[in-house]
Amino acid sequence: MSAPLHSLTLTEARDRIARETATPSALVDACFARIAQTEKKIHACITLCEQEARAAAAAMDGIRPDPDKALWGIPVTVKDVICTKGIRTTAASRMLENFVPPYDAFVVRRLKEAGAIITAKTNMDEFAMGSSTEFSAFFKTANPWDTTRVPGGSSGGSAASVAAGQCFASLGTDTGGSIRLPAGLCGCVGIKPTYGRVSRYGAVAFGSSLDQIGPMARTVKDCALVLSVIAGCDPKDATCCDVPLQDYVGAAGRTGLEGITLGLPVEYWREGLSAETGQVCRAAVDTAVKLGATVKEVSLSGPAYSIACYYVLASAEASTNLARFDGMRYGLRAAGKDLPACYKASRSAGFGPEVKRRILLGTYALSSGYYDAYYEKAAKVRRRIAEDFAAALEHCDALLSPVSPVTAWKLGSMVEDPLALYKMDILTLGVSLAGLPAVSLPAGPGPDSGLPVGLQIIGRAFDEAGIIGIAAALENVLPRLGDPNGL
Ligand code: GLN
Repeated sequence: MSAPLHSLTLTEARDRIARETATPSALVDACFARIAQTEKKIHACITLCEQEARAAAAAMDGIRPDPDKALWGIPVTVKDVICTKGIRTTAASRMLENFVPPYDAFVVRRLKEAGAIITAKTNMDEFAMGSSTEFSAFFKTANPWDTTRVPGGSSGGSAASVAAGQCFASLGTDTGGSIRLPAGLCGCVGIKPTYGRVSRYGAVAFGSSLDQIGPMARTVKDCALVLSVIAGCDPKDATCCDVPLQDYVGAAGRTGLEGITLGLPVEYWREGLSAETGQVCRAAVDTAVKLGATVKEVSLSGPAYSIACYYVLASAEASTNLARFDGMRYGLRAAGKDLPACYKASRSAGFGPEVKRRILLGTYALSSGYYDAYYEKAAKVRRRIAEDFAAALEHCDALLSPVSPVTAWKLGSMVEDPLALYKMDILTLGVSLAGLPAVSLPAGPGPDSGLPVGLQIIGRAFDEAGIIGIAAALENVLPRLGDPNGL
């Protein structure tokens, strides 16, 4: 018996479409059947776009697939922080619960132009603030490997939907780790592109100097394909860089690692790693050596500095970005006797506790008298962190570290302790502060828990192809996870 359609990789599904042995409608049907089967257990999606998706697929069925359209007829999900024209985009917040954007984000337009079919908008931490998808204003998402555990965050709905076979790929956003962490904890591949590689136009802003949109999928090549669709210059995002694109899909064909030098930042290999995380990631490094790579130790500033630095800067940026949600122009409006009272009531009712915490923290860090001590200092530390990464990458093609110190933790076990949760990003934040690209790659199941362990491959700015190649070569030979066993 051949594999069910939902379990194919994106590349395989594309192949079926190209050979006309599957239709867009068949793929869409398979994905919605899988959603019906799994959604009650994992709650990955905020909005299903079933009518729109079925109509789009039906309109494509009879047409010969266009080989220039890389995602022709492929069902994908999109994190609910990315605007979709005519489809509710909530950022998992009461503030935007009924917001229907009048336009598509740049990346969504690109997906549609490539023939992709959007099947659902995925759950996330409110305004992408969190590491476990427990801070969604609507419901929590569970990890398909063990539904008593978190999927990671903030793009937890995207990761869970990919791991569960609800779609062939998803778009997430990563400000400090939000693609890499959930990809790692759910056993899928995620790419955070270089800051400026992908347009942020139409993504609800959190930390504008950090936010990047990127792909999540079941294989490196699948992610490379989606990246090749969404990457590129966009005049509507002034921070988007006009650097030539690379051949990401070609890079995913790499097999050996001869001639590649990989750096192991020593500080990233000791910071509170669980025994099995360390063990599985070290085994992946041994595999890289067997594939021909040269591995050497390098030193970066301690990752603990990046936590302090990131949470000052990201909160400061969030506090200014979220000032626009005042109940006047769009979003929730609560009654108040005068203008200030209306602002206050709307923001009190619209934002959840974690978002309020960030606004308070950020406003404090930016306030006169504290600006120099916090914001300016953090900006200087950020520069040092970026310089450290750049120096290490002068002699190495890429750096390797675990994605997170531990595997997926129990739902509810850290929600009351924001600092403990912030520490889960300890290995991803530095990369974001430095604006570098990184791949999160499943390195194998933890020997004790059986849960996915993620390896982080950090590259030079705008060298996504380099890290895609390394990830693809490793993916060929690393232990496979198989299907998630929590469903
Ligand atoms: N967990 C980090 C935070 O809460 C990163 C989130 C993200 O990358 N969007 O800010």
